[in-house]
Amino acid sequence: MSHQTELQYQREHLFIGGEWRPSTSPDTITVISPFTEQPVGRAPDTSPADIDAAVAAARHALTRSAWATWDVETRAAAIDRFADALERRADETARIVTAENGMPIWGSSAVEGPDPARVLRHFAQLARTTPQEERRPAASGTGTTLVRREPVGVVAAVVPWNYPQSLAVFKIAPALAAGCTVVVKPAPETVLDAFQFADAAQEAGLPDGVINIVTGGRDAGAYLVSHPGVDKVAFTGSTEAGRAIGEVCGRLLRPVTLELGGKSAAIVLDDADLGRTVRGLTWVCLAHSGQTCYTNSRILAPRSRYDEVVDAIADLAASLQIGDPSDPATQLGPLVSSRQRERVESAIAAGRAGGARVVTGGRRPAAFERGWFIEPTVFADLDNSHTVAREEIFGPVLTVIPYDDIDDAVAIADDSPYGLAGTVWTSDEDKGIEIARRVRTGTVGVNFYDIDLGAPFGGVKASGLGRELGPEGLASYVAYKSVYLSR
Ligand code: NAD
Repeated sequence: MSHQTELQYQREHLFIGGEWRPSTSPDTITVISPFTEQPVGRAPDTSPADIDAAVAAARHALTRSAWATWDVETRAAAIDRFADALERRADETARIVTAENGMPIWGSSAVEGPDPARVLRHFAQLARTTPQEERRPAASGTGTTLVRREPVGVVAAVVPWNYPQSLAVFKIAPALAAGCTVVVKPAPETVLDAFQFADAAQEAGLPDGVINIVTGGRDAGAYLVSHPGVDKVAFTGSTEAGRAIGEVCGRLLRPVTLELGGKSAAIVLDDADLGRTVRGLTWVCLAHSGQTCYTNSRILAPRSRYDEVVDAIADLAASLQIGDPSDPATQLGPLVSSRQRERVESAIAAGRAGGARVVTGGRRPAAFERGWFIEPTVFADLDNSHTVAREEIFGPVLTVIPYDDIDDAVAIADDSPYGLAGTVWTSDEDKGIEIARRVRTGTVGVNFYDIDLGAPFGGVKASGLGRELGPEGLASYVAYKSVYLSR
């Protein structure tokens, strides 16, 4: 009996300058299902010549196409049509993402399918309400100045595999709203869903070259971000790659936004309702099996309630249903790749070797012969200096760390190379807001955590540079120009 899986998704061409073009590379990229470990799709790889063509097409669209001449309303209406075209594809997009990276279908249907349309509409509206020019009386008292918001130019968007649609549109939407053009390079693990943007751009009638999709891995990404025809780089991914990209952009004096890793803390106060806290922590700690940049992987518990919190978190972790990511009942799917599982397993081994206690999990679940699964794992009896409490693991691995008082909790939360997210759990919201004000991080939730499209998202320290989303996110795709006038 044959167990061969048919290739569900096949792309033959790259999308460059509004056309489907054959790649000049002889290589292809095969996407492997994290659940079946069998190929699910294939796309062409990219050569440097293809990237040159994509950047040239984006430059042409920026300066010579209808896009360059459209007024804000015409551009915003085109972005809305693009959103509509992506919305029509939302269910299929969610299925593709689940097939590629093992995200449970409930998650990809809630986020990866609908997010592109939501984010594009948000930025279309922001474009309409943000003046392109304003006149200011000169501060010297003589003359006026016309302050213009112009597009920063050709944007290179380099995207990871964990939330490939959302993290791509966090870059595409503000770039288009500002009048820029974009070359998108998805991660090889999730190369297939990126072409949804190409299909929708054609259907919506975006001018040729406004969006271009190239493929490839690290080398293609490195070639793109250092390309002389690129004006700005937007990247989400590992801190290691972010540092490399930041160095290149520093040398080239090229604006860059970097949304990188995290090791965020959930501070549970002694007055917290533990049932509510644990329910709230479920997806803040374990969404997409911990392969989420804002994962709160350090849970800080008051020493007086330490055992209680450890037991509640362990019960939560052990209760989640692991399985086939395309089954709507599945809560946790496999990790994206065997390489990712090996990384997570070596982090768990380091936790054990350092003397931390595994309260639950720590192994591959026995129920599956195939699939890159790992049990949700909770470590206790460790402090914040332990390697599992310091390094981003990017898997379902949580640590519960005791603290003595609120000053100690804030100090532990801040004692990290990272600063992307965090939460505070308390029955006194004012106290929670006071602590949220003190923690050094880019985003923090009180009894809740959900990314707000209208507010800046990003990190401090090794979690990145710059912000995506909201008016602040739009501003990073804008080049200001001051026109001085004598009257
Ligand atoms: P990565 O950062 O290496 O890759 C992300 C994207 O950047 C991919 O498209 C990749 O092709 C590209 N890329 C990599 N190096 C580049 C370079 N020097 N120049 C230009 N582009 C480059 O991530 P990965 O190897 O897929 O995963 C490794 C680790 O990164 C994970 O274990 C996890 O810890 C972390 N990660 C974090 C996030 C996040 O959202 N913060 C996302 C993905 C991965």
